[in-house]
Amino acid sequence: MSTEERPKKLDLNRNDMPRQPPEIRRHNFSEVALGYTKELAVTEANRCMKCKKPKCVTGCPVEIDIPGFISHVSNGDFASGIKKLKEKNCLPAVCGRVCPQESQCESQCILKNKEAEVAIGRIERFLADWEAAEGVVDIPARPKSTGKKIAIVGSGPAGITVAGDLILLGHEVTIFEALHKAGGVLTYGIPEFRLPKRIVAREVDYVRKLGVDVVTDFVVGKTRTVDELLEEYDAMFIGTGAGLPWFMNIPGENLNGVYSANEYLTRMNLMQGYKFPGSSTPIKKHARVAVVGGGNVAMDSARTALRMGAKEVHIIYRRSMKELPARLEEVENAEEEGVIFSVLTLPLRYSGDENGWLRQIECLKMELGEPDASGRRSPVEVPGSNFIAEFDALVCAIGNSPNPLIPSTTAGLEVTKRGTLVADPETGKTTRDRIWAGGDIVTGAATVILAMGAGRKAARSIHAYLS
Ligand code: FAD
Repeated sequence: MSTEERPKKLDLNRNDMPRQPPEIRRHNFSEVALGYTKELAVTEANRCMKCKKPKCVTGCPVEIDIPGFISHVSNGDFASGIKKLKEKNCLPAVCGRVCPQESQCESQCILKNKEAEVAIGRIERFLADWEAAEGVVDIPARPKSTGKKIAIVGSGPAGITVAGDLILLGHEVTIFEALHKAGGVLTYGIPEFRLPKRIVAREVDYVRKLGVDVVTDFVVGKTRTVDELLEEYDAMFIGTGAGLPWFMNIPGENLNGVYSANEYLTRMNLMQGYKFPGSSTPIKKHARVAVVGGGNVAMDSARTALRMGAKEVHIIYRRSMKELPARLEEVENAEEEGVIFSVLTLPLRYSGDENGWLRQIECLKMELGEPDASGRRSPVEVPGSNFIAEFDALVCAIGNSPNPLIPSTTAGLEVTKRGTLVADPETGKTTRDRIWAGGDIVTGAATVILAMGAGRKAARSIHAYLS
């Protein structure tokens, strides 16, 4: 199956980003995209029309002054460019790498239907990397303390954004993180070859340098409850994400070699399984790996399996290539690297050998029926099309929901049927006094920039409340 069935981006005139060749990168965990040179960044920035009413800004959930930072780049003034960018975004190196710009800021660019949209994300990434290479990070002065204390639960993009905004308004901010490293999915989920961990660490460090206290190995709801923390803090933001994996509930899911994407990627990224024996936490190498799902998480799992030496890696997806929810760029990267797309296919059951290891997957062929509530054509079973395929590992990447620990240990915190926290979409205010929430814990699994946008709104509302 090829990407011909997917809409192609109009990439004429846009300056391409240099990348590692597929035959090389599929064998290493180094970053795939190599970033713009100064010359490429300036040339691309010069394509921007500097619109009087820039639509790109309306497409950005954190309201970055996009023409503002791009115009500094086109003048070669990178220091002013990164300063402008950081006024609204404390994670530019992350967003420049993983934001779905094609469906946000870049989708609104007036050049989109003429030649090709300006590569806003690539310029953003260039600025962040330029600043890191220069080694001089501009740390804004901390304003006079308001004496108000805010607890933030979770150190993903939502929590980090709230922390970055509130510290610059003079409040005292502490982030409590369950894992031993901060960064949320950016640290434990998205692989090194897409988002190097030193870059996440650098951006978390920036927030620390602003004065935010980051406490790791602290599980709110177990180490201390929300109510206990509220005795000490004036307000709280909950940004605990959606880290509870879904399974298909089909026979054989507890065989050895069947992983949730969450486990598989955490063992690779956070526990650095791919570096074994350099790291002390190995993960088994598999020869034929199936990944069920079609989103970014599935692409990341499949490409990780290839890099771990698998001879064949299949994406098993029940709809067609057109409906794949992953970013187009990631699908193309996966295809180039040799991932095989077994679309219109549904796994029915897994079977194993006498030692309990996965050996086979029974699948059923699907066809597309009428559009469902999401507007996508729904998959319909083709009767009698069952077939068996041999695999020794399977990664289930069909979605995640929020962990119920905090709602189940906090009275009055209302949740939806999907287990997400109920919060006002404009302010992030939950059903409990002095508690705000945002990011995946409210929306369900979404994107980095939406989590950051929710964090920004909540920070505004918390500040208004404390003032
Ligand atoms: P998270 O990033 O999930 O952070 C929540 C943090 O809270 C975690 O560190 C967790 O350990 C901590 N926590 C949870 N419970 C507790 C507790 N009780 N006490 C203390 N701490 C707690 N989005 C994109 O925009 N582009 C992409 O390319 C992309 N790729 C992705 C690839 C993968 C593999 C995954 C899993 C997601 C991807 N996403 C992508 C989605 C994106 O990463 C998330 O939408 C985003 O990270 C959500 O941010 P958050 O701050 O709400 O939560």
